[in-house]
Amino acid sequence: MDLYEYQAKHLFDVHGVPVTPGEVCTSPEVAHEIARKIGGPVVVKAQVKTGGRGKAGGVKLAADPDEAAARAQDILGLDIKGHVVSKLLVTQATDIADEYYVSILLDRTNRAFLAMASVEGGVEIEQVAEERPEALVRRRVDALEGMTPALAREIVDEALFPEAVRAATADILVGLWRVMVSEDATLVEVNPLVLTTDGQVLALDGKVTLDGNAHYRHEHHADLLDRDAVDPIELRAQSMDLNYVKLQGEVGIIGNGAGLVMSTLDVVAYAGEEFDGVRPANFLDIGGGASAEVMSNGLDIVLNDPDVRAVFVNVFGGITSCDAVANGIVGAIEALSGRGGDVSKPIVCRIDGNNAELGRAILNDFGHELIELVDTMDEAARRVAQLAASRTGK
Ligand code: GDP
Ligand code: MN
Repeated sequence: MDLYEYQAKHLFDVHGVPVTPGEVCTSPEVAHEIARKIGGPVVVKAQVKTGGRGKAGGVKLAADPDEAAARAQDILGLDIKGHVVSKLLVTQATDIADEYYVSILLDRTNRAFLAMASVEGGVEIEQVAEERPEALVRRRVDALEGMTPALAREIVDEALFPEAVRAATADILVGLWRVMVSEDATLVEVNPLVLTTDGQVLALDGKVTLDGNAHYRHEHHADLLDRDAVDPIELRAQSMDLNYVKLQGEVGIIGNGAGLVMSTLDVVAYAGEEFDGVRPANFLDIGGGASAEVMSNGLDIVLNDPDVRAVFVNVFGGITSCDAVANGIVGAIEALSGRGGDVSKPIVCRIDGNNAELGRAILNDFGHELIELVDTMDEAARRVAQLAASRTGK
């Protein structure tokens, strides 16, 4: 989960990385109020989860509260790379003497962390990495040893930070490591880290990515979730503890086991090339021991997705045998119709593995007009793609 700048800076502040004081708001009136409280010049900054806000006109200096309100008016509603601005950070303005870059990120390939630092901050770091790779220092950070003061010092020495800022920058690297560990982050980036004209070093911008798999051990991370930006179907699926990801297509997918569901997405996308280019509408793994209730919740979510035109249930019976899965499907459809739910979309089932015969017999006996049994995964993918395409009216 990526955080907004203001959320990232709040975590910086909590863990002792210096930032300028500021507050978030959604209107020019409140921007005026915050600027008045801060006193002196402020910066009004678009809060969107993308970089390059400065260039896009989303970061503006304001000398006084009236100007802050005017800049807020300008920036609210701005479209920055497809993100429409609805939130602003109003923060104390800084007189910048120099701009640097520092970051720490999870380096999966090397099973470690990677720290990067450069005295060429404020510009896009990808550009520095490409044009002047020697200006971007990269150092491995051992997961258990972490960012020691000695390692931090080596990094700022190697990156040729000016002598006067080396101690403060090394402290900040250690502070950013605290953010990584204490918050279970996979990335912290400061671009730019600045030297102010009065000699302080502080984080002027901040990017933090939190590890979603660690949310359960951080109660306050739930508050950082941006409910407006999360897909409503994903939110509902989350509340049912389903492993669901919304995609852009038309074919609803339900399977058991992440690997099977991933390959189901592939075969459906492939089959769809022949049928109007229909694609999977979601990833949904109901897990190895899926109960009737989980199947019911899964069908409920997928059938109620307005983008879905046909559903593919691809199950390989294992721990949970096919007859249990088939009973789950029957129970789900009966429950959904009983509740007046939407069961008007065709459901193609491929059921194989433990007790497959029995499972198919249960579905055949049920004899629901919208359920179709197909023997193989490839054939079922073709059939569901064909059904989805035929229902587009194209
Ligand atoms: P980004 O463009 O999305 O990365 O947003 P940043 O927060 O990094 O801001 C972009 C640029 O605006 C920075 O590199 C600075 O040059 C400038 N900027 C931001 N805040 C201030 C400030 O307080 N004072 C001054 N003088 N410039 C600022
Ligand atoms: Mn920046």
